[in-house]
Amino acid sequence: MSISWRITAAIAVALIPLLVSSADHGDAAGARRSARAKLKPPAPETCEPRKFKIILDVGHTSESQGATSARNDVEFGFNLHLARLIGERLTSAGFAATRVLVTEGKARASLLKRVGTANAAHADLFLSIHHDSVPDKMLEEWEFEGASSHFSDRFSGHSLFVSERNPRFGASLAFARLLGRELKEKGLQYATQYSLPLMGRYRHPLLDKDVGVYRYDALVVLSQTRSAAVLLEAGSIINRDEEMAMNSPERQELIATAVVTAMRAYCEKR
Ligand SMILES: [Zn+2]
Repeated sequence: MSISWRITAAIAVALIPLLVSSADHGDAAGARRSARAKLKPPAPETCEPRKFKIILDVGHTSESQGATSARNDVEFGFNLHLARLIGERLTSAGFAATRVLVTEGKARASLLKRVGTANAAHADLFLSIHHDSVPDKMLEEWEFEGASSHFSDRFSGHSLFVSERNPRFGASLAFARLLGRELKEKGLQYATQYSLPLMGRYRHPLLDKDVGVYRYDALVVLSQTRSAAVLLEAGSIINRDEEMAMNSPERQELIATAVVTAMRAYCEKR
């Protein structure tokens, strides 16, 4: 989670009125879904893996690259690599309609583009991939390969975020819990700091204390997508040990496997 990303999230509320008017399901099934949605809360959709449209959203852009790691690599690169791996594993597992979404441009405009792309594609599930950092005030200085660098070893772990403003909040939470459970069962501990007062405006309600799902209502990519939507902070790249882990094929495969297993379980419940 980068500072620029957080600032962008903070303006989310102002952008909401721009986005609520376009309910443009073109197909008959979409029209039926829309009609049902007016009568009662959205019903679970059926899931046939090869047709289930998963969008893996690569957090940030090549122009606005998110957080900087303890060893001065950019978050965008971590996000892109992991999203592609998850995409390959999902496709191999039969989720043939999985798409890795890379967005261009400045941070704020890119959020609207992501939402627009997901909604136009009638996505079934939107999973945004990020890597975490800390607020600037927590950064400490060190030198890496001769360059003045910043780190914070205080916190580590992955975290999952959902928005109660998403029209499929229940489904979003269900998938986030399944993924959180898979990561926990693989021995990973989620990042607990988002429930702490010291996080100030970055503090969020913890919806699932067991597996680390937080509520983050203002995030554009979670609240404005019409599909279920979850944001995964895969791990901290400002923590020096965890940055090394996040760079390892073992950790990357573990996360990709967790997503595939969670997706299968989610799909079976549709
Ligand atoms: Zn980020």
